[in-house]
Amino acid sequence: MTGPDDLPIRDELRGLSPYGAPQLDVPVRLNTNENSHPVPEAVAEAIGKALTAELRDLNRYPDRDAVALRADLAGYLGHGLTADGVWAANGSNEVQQQLLQAFGGPGRSALGFTPAYSMHPLLARGTGTGWVPARRGADFALTADEAVAQVREHRPDVVFLCSPNNPTGTALDPAVIDAVLDVAPGMVVVDEAYAEFARPGTVSALAVLPGHPRLVVTRTMSKAFGFAGGRLGYLAADPAVVAAVQLVRLPYHLSALTQAAARAALAHRDALLATVAEIAEQRDRIVTELRGRGLRVADSDANFVLYEVGGDQSVAWRALLAHGVLVRDVGLPGWLRVTAGTRAETDAFLAAVDSIQREGLTAPQPLPTKGTS
Ligand SMILES: *Cc1c(COP(=O)(O)O)cnc(C)c1O
Repeated sequence: MTGPDDLPIRDELRGLSPYGAPQLDVPVRLNTNENSHPVPEAVAEAIGKALTAELRDLNRYPDRDAVALRADLAGYLGHGLTADGVWAANGSNEVQQQLLQAFGGPGRSALGFTPAYSMHPLLARGTGTGWVPARRGADFALTADEAVAQVREHRPDVVFLCSPNNPTGTALDPAVIDAVLDVAPGMVVVDEAYAEFARPGTVSALAVLPGHPRLVVTRTMSKAFGFAGGRLGYLAADPAVVAAVQLVRLPYHLSALTQAAARAALAHRDALLATVAEIAEQRDRIVTELRGRGLRVADSDANFVLYEVGGDQSVAWRALLAHGVLVRDVGLPGWLRVTAGTRAETDAFLAAVDSIQREGLTAPQPLPTKGTS
């Protein structure tokens, strides 16, 4: 059978597998940090109406600049932002890819503080941008001094910061962002995919945008908004950044249906974001319960928790799966990441953890059959 490696594919793509967490058909799915709560019926109906209104016009291309949606997003973010300082695409992954197309590329480099979001190095590779895996200190902490020293050493064209950080869950000290902005020779991208879950008092990098034209804050509707299937991510930055990204975006990249659905969802943001407090409560419960069982747990300001399993994480991952609970092995030896979902999902996860602690981590369990979800 012919495979990609038999084709004249780019050398750096040879032998690779596509990125993505396993999509398995199990009762409790806590592996991709989605919002476990379904879209409320009233919101689903409003989105349906908005989509229906677009259908007769699908013969025409959509608004290429998605101005109405960007104005709505700016209104949601506040901080005095307007549409010209906001840009949207099919998920913040696409936004970040566009940023690398505009500010990275062959002969240029991007730097991130590992462990962080695993898509950042993959987007770098896909855009021909060199990748610098910078380090964090003990307990995954990142101090301003450590960050500054590594940015000074490597002088990357793009620095990725992630706050709250995935997979550790911890929000960044704003002093780190300020310090990196002071020394970075290029763009500084702060990935705030989980901002809505952060504890009261956590400062968003949005507050630092005025006077920093090389700062970009990326956000998404995939997590707190419970809109992962809708694919809508966005950025806030100086209007010059938006103008730069427009040089590389595909024309009409955001379909009329995506724009309409996202606007309807945003109009009902109170209903959609109503689950955030409940999810944060489950997050804090998971942290407390795991610590109560003597496990090490990273502080979390997000909708997930990184914890040390007390053994081989891939064995623990399979053992949880055998109990019907799917979590994420992010490749950190000894650690697993679990999403905070509904109360019932936390119950199921903790019960599975208890069973495994009683049984002990033994032989790998067989994988369940692949689902279609
Ligand atoms: C989930 C996640 C995203 C979201 O990506 P989308 O393309 O918007 O779905 C972005 N950044 C981080 C760190 C994430 O964990």
